[in-house]
Amino acid sequence: MGKVVAKSAAAVSGATPSAITPNVATSSVATASVLSWLTETLEPARFSDYCPNGLQVQGKPSIGRVLTGVTASLALIEAAIERQADAVLVHHGWFWRGEDPTIRSQKHQRLSRLLAHDINLFAYHLPLDAHPVLGNNAQLAWHMGWAVERDLQENPVTAGPSDLIWFGRPSTDCNLAEFTQQIAHRLQREPTVVGDPNQPCRRIAWCTGAAQGMFEAAINAGADVFVTGEISEPSAHLARELGVSFISAGHHATERYGVAALGVALQDALGVTVEFLDIDNPA
Ligand SMILES: [Zn+2]
Repeated sequence: MGKVVAKSAAAVSGATPSAITPNVATSSVATASVLSWLTETLEPARFSDYCPNGLQVQGKPSIGRVLTGVTASLALIEAAIERQADAVLVHHGWFWRGEDPTIRSQKHQRLSRLLAHDINLFAYHLPLDAHPVLGNNAQLAWHMGWAVERDLQENPVTAGPSDLIWFGRPSTDCNLAEFTQQIAHRLQREPTVVGDPNQPCRRIAWCTGAAQGMFEAAINAGADVFVTGEISEPSAHLARELGVSFISAGHHATERYGVAALGVALQDALGVTVEFLDIDNPA
C-alpha cells in the first residue's frame, strides 16, 4: 500500500462510476507503465488465482484511453473498439484454469476482435476482490455505507481463503428485511434471501462474486448474515439449520464497483482517460 493508493482512495470516495465521462484531455503513457502501476497497486504476486492477473493480451505500446468493465465480454470489446480505447481493464478476464484452451467459437470471436484493433487486455481477479481500498469488498461496503470492522492497525478484519471475507455493521440498526431492502435499493436488483426477516443484523459478513462456498467460514467467524453474489443449493440449508441469514445479491451487482474505482485511481495516477461501462447482467 503506497502513497499513490491512499491518494487515489480519496478520489474514489468522491466519485461514482456514472461521474466518469470520456472525452476529457488525454495523455498517452507506455503500456508498460500502466502495467507497472497496476502491479504496484494490486500486488498480484501475493495471490494464487484461477487465471493470469495482469496484461492478458498485449496490444498497442502506448495507452491514452481505457475502458473498464466487470467482464471482458464481446459487448465490452465492441464498446472499446467504438470508443477507440487502447486498453480494456476488467475483473473477469480470460484463460481460466480448467477451461478448454483452444481458441474457437466465442473465444475466437472475442480474441480476434481485440487483436484486430490492437487493444491491450488487463484483468485482475482475486487481487481486485481483496484490495483494501479499491477492491470489490471494500467498494461494496463503501457504496452500501457499511462500517468495516478493523483491527488495531486499521486493517479490515477478514477470514476465509485469501482473506476474502470482510466484516462490519450495516449503515443503520436493522433487521434482515430492512437490510435486504437497503441492498435491493442500492444495487437496483432484488436479492435472494434465506433467513428470518425479523432477525437483527448486527455483525454482517460479505464477499463479492461467487463466494457461497465461504458461507461456513463466515458463520464460524460469528456473522449474523452473509452477503455474496450467488447462492447454491446447500447455502439455504446451512442458513436454516444454523440460524445465520444468507443474501445472494448478484455476482455482477456486487462486483461492479472495484474495477470502476480502480479506473478512477488509474486516471488520477497516470492521466490516461478512463471510462467505466456497466453492461447489465442479471446473474
Ligand atoms: Zn467474480
